[in-house]
Amino acid sequence: MNNNSLLNFTLENLPIRGSIVFLESTWNDIRLDRDYPEIIEKLLGELLICSTLLSSMIKLNGSLSIQIQGQIQGQIQGKGGVEVLVAETNSPDYELSPEDIKEDEDINDYNFISLRGTAKFSEKVKELKEENPLPALLENALLSITIDPRRGAKRYQSIIPISENTIEKIFEEYLDKSEQIEGKIAIFSSEEGIGGIILQKLPEQEIQDGVSFEYDYNSIMEKIKKNIKDLSKEEITNLNFEQLLTKVTDKFDVRIFDYQTTRFVCGCSREKIERVLLTIGRKESEEILKEHGNITVNCEFCKKEEKFDSIDVASIFSSTTKSSKSLN
Ligand SMILES: [Zn+2]
Repeated sequence: MNNNSLLNFTLENLPIRGSIVFLESTWNDIRLDRDYPEIIEKLLGELLICSTLLSSMIKLNGSLSIQIQGQIQGQIQGKGGVEVLVAETNSPDYELSPEDIKEDEDINDYNFISLRGTAKFSEKVKELKEENPLPALLENALLSITIDPRRGAKRYQSIIPISENTIEKIFEEYLDKSEQIEGKIAIFSSEEGIGGIILQKLPEQEIQDGVSFEYDYNSIMEKIKKNIKDLSKEEITNLNFEQLLTKVTDKFDVRIFDYQTTRFVCGCSREKIERVLLTIGRKESEEILKEHGNITVNCEFCKKEEKFDSIDVASIFSSTTKSSKSLN
């Protein structure tokens, strides 16, 4: 399997395009030292696969975040005790301008898909005994997708009803209802990692030549999806993307486009926390300082700790006073 990469392809002479992704060390880095119960880990992995495939399908230049909110108004909804799960994908910085790149960096330092994810849940998750625990885990939870394109375009959010009992079906419904895309998603995994494929039926006028109308495209996509679900763990481990696509697409030829690599990268920074402190305000920040001696913030995604003492806090608030004065 092609580790930590995403490949875009089309089926020759058919109005079907797709993306396939497999995450190994990217996924292992995200779940490292987290001790997530198996079902939480599986769910988070599937959400990360879906966020990567969706952002590739809609050709997003920006970030796509999937969030399951299981705690609503202080009440945990599902039997599995899910509080919140977040899976986020950021597309490569294709549109970086030369001045965005620092002196010791190369454009290729930015040319990868970055992923991060986190999960918060209670001990109740260990009591789930159902064969498919998803309905119990997600009972009455809210599932939202936030798309944040770069370069000034507006951020938007869709809330998805959870009426299906697999993550694949939930996101196929999202494609249909929110993006008006006729598509299929299949998730697969091995001991080494987790992967997925997304297929999209294109409007037929987008096909250049040789369009044949004798096919039922939906059943072709269903067949490919079934072939993927039938792959053995050994096949997932031993085949590369090209061999795997040849196997699952049967008699159809695959035309391969670009490869992209993935990495676990957390976008948190000390500056972003400083902005949060500014929103909290001086009074509240000083109260936390008085109580704890400093303000310590741990990132949910990468566990990095940032500490702010009274001198740091004073400087955050004094620099804003200065800049707002200079504006006048
Ligand atoms: Zn972080």
